[in-house]
Amino acid sequence: MIEAHTVSHLERKFQGIGASPGIITGKVFVYGRDEVAVVQKEIRGEDVGSEIGRFEQALLLTRQQLQEIQKRIIEDLGENDGAIFDAHLLVLDDPSLIDEVVRRIQEEHQNVEFAFENVSTQYFKSLLNIEDAYLRERAADIKDVAHRVLRNLEGQSSQDLRTLVEPCIVLAYDLSPSDTATLDRAKVLGFCTDIGSRTSHTAIMARAMDIPAVVGLHDSSHQIESGCFALLDGYGGWLYINPSEQTLYDYGQLEHKRHTIEVSLESLRDLPSETTDHVRVMLGANIEMPSDVPHVLENGADGVGLFRTEYIFINRKDMPTEDEQYRAYAEVAEKMNPKPVIIRTLDLGGDKFLSHLEVAREMNPFLGWRAIRFCLERTDIFQDQLRAILRASRLGNVQIMYPMISGVGELRRANAELDKARQTLRERGIAFDEKIKVGCMIEIPSAALTADLLAKETNFFSVGTNDLIQYSLAVDRVNEKIAHLYEPTHPAIIRSLKNIADAAHKAGIPAGICGEMAGDVTMAPLLVGMGFDELSTSPSVVPQLKKLVRSMSKAQANEVVHQALELSTGDEIRKLSVNLAKSIAPDIMELSAN
Ligand code: PEP
Ligand code: MG
Repeated sequence: MIEAHTVSHLERKFQGIGASPGIITGKVFVYGRDEVAVVQKEIRGEDVGSEIGRFEQALLLTRQQLQEIQKRIIEDLGENDGAIFDAHLLVLDDPSLIDEVVRRIQEEHQNVEFAFENVSTQYFKSLLNIEDAYLRERAADIKDVAHRVLRNLEGQSSQDLRTLVEPCIVLAYDLSPSDTATLDRAKVLGFCTDIGSRTSHTAIMARAMDIPAVVGLHDSSHQIESGCFALLDGYGGWLYINPSEQTLYDYGQLEHKRHTIEVSLESLRDLPSETTDHVRVMLGANIEMPSDVPHVLENGADGVGLFRTEYIFINRKDMPTEDEQYRAYAEVAEKMNPKPVIIRTLDLGGDKFLSHLEVAREMNPFLGWRAIRFCLERTDIFQDQLRAILRASRLGNVQIMYPMISGVGELRRANAELDKARQTLRERGIAFDEKIKVGCMIEIPSAALTADLLAKETNFFSVGTNDLIQYSLAVDRVNEKIAHLYEPTHPAIIRSLKNIADAAHKAGIPAGICGEMAGDVTMAPLLVGMGFDELSTSPSVVPQLKKLVRSMSKAQANEVVHQALELSTGDEIRKLSVNLAKSIAPDIMELSAN
């Protein structure tokens, strides 16, 4: 809700990309922009003792902070996540590091900040060059801890998103998956980032968490200070610093209107998602964690169309075991039963990395060693996951889906791994759904072009438009500078999607869409017209999509597609779809209006 606020400064307005709907006001917290500038000073002989005293104080304070964070994480997320901080605490006890800093203070009369920064940087660099992966990882621990010690020496408060003291709007250059996965929802009113686009993991996570977000704000994190009062508009992609009374009033009115529409959608919750001429379009929800399931059910989704399993692997020191994974998948399967749950196998890489896994830096991570390519090499990790999913399959309506399949050869290799996992479970006498459905994501142009071949060897398709668009149009999906070129209605995409849906239906299998294009309500006429059987999106969009589907006839949607295939530009095609959406469900279009 919009709060009244006394305005004492001039309003400043920053435009980004609306990444997760909602409007929120609050204090800004600028996260991550806390480089400590260290200068060299020569200290006098009589100050050596007090300089060493400052060092000891900073180490002590850092220890207390780390232990406090560790305690909270163990309470919130369990022992495993808390263990991350054991290595950090060990750095504070490292005698060679501490002795060398003290020696430099005593013998070379260096100020403690300078001595500590130099020694820790030397350590960091030498560990980074070592072959051993474990030691290289310690380098990151040293860097983290050293930064914290330096901040404490300078008397700056320590920044950590897990330990925010008051509710605020977080503003950062970027947020890593581990940042977003551990955000305290009670403290983070909304977030915004300098980089990113609607399909970057940060935006997807914000929608899953139902937190208003704006991405692609360019260099705003350098122009805005912590503590400013702001209004964040996750629909239109605006960040207002010191919003004027008029802005607050206008947004208050808008918020009221949107709330009324949202309440009116609640009555559709238990009604089927079907067109006026009775064509059923399943509405799935995309989830990242088992804790998202209540939100899926509240919004009346027909199932989970995409369970992104990466977040089970993020924010921990090691890989989750088969049992740990099983518990997560089983929880979702049981709570959703009898509704279907499509569990996607690990899609690491791109903009989702694990800190504990040694993966060499790549020039083009989205074109690199990611998703199924990674799993088909690290079959140890893949087998654990496949067994865990299979075991959960007897508790509900579980289906498996592989990400980033490029062609039939890869699909067969993935299926061979699945057969091996089945065989292992049979040998162990563990039951699973022998008839489990196995689908394949279509998100690489080569898969789209060979959809007819893939359709013969899989039970369903789910189109990952986030990737399919970036690869087809050669537009990096997370680069805000070229976000205007990321065009879901480009004729190439429309033809590709139509081709995929047709190939699936010719082979008698269903085709869905689980990329963000499915969650853009203005696209529903096109996607329904092409014949997609399921649209899967963030849970909060499901009621709006349902309203739209229930307001159109399949015949109207078919006509939109028929005309779209004759048009030459993305703009023309988008307008066609938007026009139908506006005429059949104007209220919903107001909700999503930018
Ligand atoms: C996609 O690419 O559209 C998709 C759903 O997968 P992700 O966003 O996780 O890459
Ligand atoms: Mg993808």
